Amino acid sequence: MSTSDLSGRVAIVTGAGDGIGRASLLALVRNGASAVGCDVDEGRLQETLRLAEKIRPGAGRVRTADVSDPQQMAEVVALATSEFGGLDIVHANAGISQPVAAAGDIPLDTWRRVIEVNLTGLFVTFQTALPALSESAHASFIATASGLGVVGSPGLAAYVASKHAVVGFIKSSALDYARSGVRINAVAPGMTETPMLMSSTSEEVRANMTAAIPAGRFGTPEDIAGAVVWLASDQSKYVVGATIVVDGGDSID
Ligand code: NAD
Repeated sequence: MSTSDLSGRVAIVTGAGDGIGRASLLALVRNGASAVGCDVDEGRLQETLRLAEKIRPGAGRVRTADVSDPQQMAEVVALATSEFGGLDIVHANAGISQPVAAAGDIPLDTWRRVIEVNLTGLFVTFQTALPALSESAHASFIATASGLGVVGSPGLAAYVASKHAVVGFIKSSALDYARSGVRINAVAPGMTETPMLMSSTSEEVRANMTAAIPAGRFGTPEDIAGAVVWLASDQSKYVVGATIVVDGGDSID
């Protein structure tokens, strides 16, 4: 019988310094996994490590790394395999938003950085992790896409394009590796209470957004982490190339 018990499994979570990535790392540890978190923000990572230590001492490690840098990501993978003896789960979660602007007004630098982190960072994370992941009998690669990976939004063309591309990458790579046993899926959060959302919206805008969500509230990082744990576990072993929307019904037509 398959369970969500992740005892003995080893995970990497990118963007683990805050928000969804931190909640994901803590949920994976709570469910028995050992986990390495990486982020560009060392201070936030240390806080994630402190919280992981409170759940299960010794089950967490952290390393400062930018997901778009292959050398730094190779060091993160090496840390996981040397400290914990392998790699079973990767949650490629790091991502950035963009200042709101009509597509014609987005500076090229902004476009390039959003694509670099959200799409190329996912690709680099995937390629550096794949050799170790391929050795696992329970390999699960999970990307954080977005509700905006399946619908458009005014003023966010760079972000929306990057997240649609994430969904496309997941579908194609899932087909490449389905027979080898590396499962590849995505979670697509709706509006989730994290520093990313809170820093880019006013209270008034958030009140209007909340009113439009069928569930009547924003998601929490823990809501998204629940789907990540499920996708990481054998409970979802026949789920391949899926993008699981977790948005309180926001994207129902
Ligand atoms: P967040 O800003 O709270 O956390 C993201 C973390 O990623 C931060 O700690 C940041 O330092 C880190 N990061 C940024 N660039 C990085 C890089 N180049 N390398 C490594 N780490 C980096 O944001 P969040 O809301 O938790 O977002 C996590 C993911 O969820 C992102 O991919 C985001 O696009 C996606 N998402 C968020 C929402 C939402 O409403 N919050 C909705 C849909 C999708």
